Amino acid sequence: MVHVDGRVTTCCLDEGLENTLGNARETPLAELWNGPTLHRWRVAQAEGRFEDSGPYCTLCNWRGAGTMPSEAVAEYLAGNNERSALTSFRSRFPHVTRPPHRKTR
Ligand code: SF4
Repeated sequence: MVHVDGRVTTCCLDEGLENTLGNARETPLAELWNGPTLHRWRVAQAEGRFEDSGPYCTLCNWRGAGTMPSEAVAEYLAGNNERSALTSFRSRFPHVTRPPHRKTR
């Protein structure tokens, strides 16, 4: 979510901007979106480690706002070679058997 002053946070619930990634007026949004901090936080969420997915997530009791489809999470992890996180994610969501790009007929 991009606030009027350009600050970018990971979540629409984060009114206090605790999960701020940077400022879109200073850094391209794509760079913030694809940067190492957000990647690390995504992996933490996929592994169920919300305490490591941004300071605001630690306090959150929702943990489902804007949830990505499970298949998209699996594809993201596989595409970034996050094998351990993918295994963890699949164990928590067993209906995800394989990432979409590996689907067979
Ligand atoms: S855990 Fe809560 S604060 Fe963090 S991204 Fe999910 S919904 Fe937002």
